[in-house]
Amino acid sequence: MNANTLLADPAAIEIEKFVSDDNSIIIVVRSIQPAVICPKCNQPSNSLKCRYVRRLADLPWHDVAARLELKARKFRCRNELCSQKVFCEHLPNFVAAYARRTIRLMETLTLLAFALGGSGSFAH
Ligand SMILES: [Zn+2]
Repeated sequence: MNANTLLADPAAIEIEKFVSDDNSIIIVVRSIQPAVICPKCNQPSNSLKCRYVRRLADLPWHDVAARLELKARKFRCRNELCSQKVFCEHLPNFVAAYARRTIRLMETLTLLAFALGGSGSFAH
């Protein structure tokens, strides 16, 4: 089995390594998008400025908490007419901007909230 099938968006991120302890699994992933689009001028850029780490909660694996350490990237916009000099890449199928949880975890939590009807338990 290809380990990347475990990820929400294997076309945009890939697994570097797994780190586990008794209570959780940490999956270190990195972005692999070949080019990113400047959010201001919509021009593609591959001018990497730096990498930074985002820590995200993901769906549990068989009741074990799964956390992701995403090595995300910042790029420079090379369009001289653009006012956005540096921007963070977006991974819209994986995580929202500034979010601390993956999209699939947020969708699951939203479904649970609707199923519970805001009552906080399955018993009515
Ligand atoms: Zn730009």
